[in-house]
Amino acid sequence: LLNTLMKHEKLESVSHFAAAVSHELRNPIQSIKGFIQLMQVYDYNREKQLEFHDTILNEINAAESLIDDYLIYAKPVYGELERMSVSDEVCGVLKLLGPYANSRDVELLCHKGEENVSIRGDRQKFRQAMVNIIRNGVEAMPEGGELVVRIKAQPAKVTVEVADTGVGMTKEEVERLGEPYFSNKIKGTGLGMMVTYSVIHQMKGAIIVNSEKGSGTVFKLVFPKYGL
Ligand code: ADP
Ligand code: MG
Repeated sequence: LLNTLMKHEKLESVSHFAAAVSHELRNPIQSIKGFIQLMQVYDYNREKQLEFHDTILNEINAAESLIDDYLIYAKPVYGELERMSVSDEVCGVLKLLGPYANSRDVELLCHKGEENVSIRGDRQKFRQAMVNIIRNGVEAMPEGGELVVRIKAQPAKVTVEVADTGVGMTKEEVERLGEPYFSNKIKGTGLGMMVTYSVIHQMKGAIIVNSEKGSGTVFKLVFPKYGL
């Protein structure tokens, strides 16, 4: 389904996310259901039961990851375009991800500059896009480190840079960002960047990625200022 939706490179409407994620969630839910039904019908020995429990837990974790990538801020009504302050939104996201980063020995730093710039978009989706970029940055630093977010005002634009000193990517990997199911992680969904790219493009924003294998990555997002 996602591949069909992505055929023309980007999702036209984020309401498609809802359709896509419910489709994706069906697999783990079906599998959980199946194992529980089996255990209701048959008398498995303890060892087998524990094995099933493990599988069920893994499926629940997979469903949870999907929800994290898509729906942290989901709300029933989509598509509201509103004026929002870049630094308020970005700081909100950093606050939300603080405990997560902490648990992985990553420090989140924010340089927000003097000017308080506004942009136009859907607040929830913008936050989701930022969450997905920042979470990847944290995950790219398995030994811990610093993740720096910089907000810079320009005459007509505002840029948000997210820099990590993590594992980095090859040129080929950078090119595949945003492609559904592209993931190098054992338990990755490969959907976080697809959501992010789609949201940023809908906001008329641009994404520039500079990355070097082994030394880190900078995601640079460029948005038109509100009202310009
Ligand atoms: P997931 O995180 O579930 O793997 P994403 O769509 O969020 O899926 O990311 C896709 C892939 O892009 C990741 O598996 C990773 O290989 C690569 N990637 C994204 N951000 C970074 C980053 N900051 N540093 C290194 N690799 C990254
Ligand atoms: Mg991710």
